[in-house]
Amino acid sequence: MLELNCLRTAKFHRRSEICMNNGTKVVYRIDSQDRIVFVNDVWQHFASENDAPDYAAEGVLNRSLWDFITDSTTRQFYQEVIKAARGEKPVTFNFRCDSAEYRRFMKMRVTGETGLVQFETETLAVEQRPPQPLLDRHSRRSGELVVICGWCKKINIGQAIWKEVEHAIEALRVFEQEKIPQLSHGMCHGCYVMVSEQLKNLCG
Ligand SMILES: [Zn+2]
Repeated sequence: MLELNCLRTAKFHRRSEICMNNGTKVVYRIDSQDRIVFVNDVWQHFASENDAPDYAAEGVLNRSLWDFITDSTTRQFYQEVIKAARGEKPVTFNFRCDSAEYRRFMKMRVTGETGLVQFETETLAVEQRPPQPLLDRHSRRSGELVVICGWCKKINIGQAIWKEVEHAIEALRVFEQEKIPQLSHGMCHGCYVMVSEQLKNLCG
C-alpha cells in the first residue's frame, strides 16, 4: 500500500517540493466495498509524469485497495485504520517514501464516514543524499532478495537487524556484487511495535 502512496521516482522530489510549498496533497478515496473510487489531480500528475502506468487513474480506479497491499501485517493495520476511520476516528501516521537520492518523510491522515474513506498524504521533509543503487529502479538486479521495511525503509541485513540503506549496503557488500539484489517488502521490528501500539489504541 505504501508503494501505492509513494510512486517512487526522482521526479517525485520536484513535485514534493511543490507539495511542501503550496500544501498540495496526494489524495485517494475508497468506497464501502474498499474499491478505489477517487484519486486527485496531484496523484494523476505523479503517475503520468513518472511513467508509472500501473498507477494511472485507469489502472487503479474501481480496483480493490487490497490488490495493492501484499504484506500481511500492513493489511491488518490498514483494515483496523479503515475500520476506525469509518467509525469517524481519524488516524494519522508517519512513514518514509525514499528514492535512490532522497529521504522523504511523509505523513498520512485517514478520515472517513460511513463507507467512504479518504487517504491524504503530505511531505513533511526531504533530505538529499548520495544516490543509493539499491533503491534505484533502473539498477540491474540479481535473483537474490533483501527485505525493505515498507514503513521506515530500513533494510534487513540478516536475523533481526535492520539498517538505513547507506549502512545496509556495506553490511550486505552490495558493491562487491555484479548486480544489485531485488527488494521485497516487509516490516521491521521497530515499525511492528509502532503499528501494534497504534492498533491497540484504535481497538481500545
Ligand atoms: Zn521499519
